[in-house]
Amino acid sequence: MAGNRTFTMIKPDAFEAGNSGAILKMIEEAGFKIVAMKATRLTTELAGKFYEVHKERPFYKDLCAYMSSGPIIAAILEKDNAVEDFRKLIGATNPEQAAEGTIRKIFAKSIEANAVHGSDSDENAAIEGNFYFSQLERIR
Ligand code: GDP
Ligand code: MG
Repeated sequence: MAGNRTFTMIKPDAFEAGNSGAILKMIEEAGFKIVAMKATRLTTELAGKFYEVHKERPFYKDLCAYMSSGPIIAAILEKDNAVEDFRKLIGATNPEQAAEGTIRKIFAKSIEANAVHGSDSDENAAIEGNFYFSQLERIR
């Protein structure tokens, strides 16, 4: 059975552009409940840790620099079938390939500065949520 939690970040490009509120509105209107949320900022080292699975990819260094370039919002979200439904809501990694009406289609600036993160599996959703949030910081 699919899990009911996922993890998201509103990335520096969307935060800086003042799109956090509009993105959170889309997320809530799609039926996701907020379990934990904070505005924060990654160092390049922390971004490197978060994206460690991509360390052999050519864009890794740029990605770590970009993700630590400004504030972000991190959140744990709850909904039935959360991981898959959230990936649908945000759209393809490259906004040029993202479906109409998806968050990335509407707000992303490029394949790198693509407005939001969404976990790709239940296992990674748990790991990523634990990366940012202690039990005390969660509503449930
Ligand atoms: P996601 O799961 O859709 O976020 O995509 P990936 O896990 O494949 O990549 C992680 C993040 O790295 C993406 O969300 C982008 O911010 C960035 N990224 C992915 N592919 C590229 C690329 O080809 N070039 C650059 N510069 N960044 C990329
Ligand atoms: Mg990914």
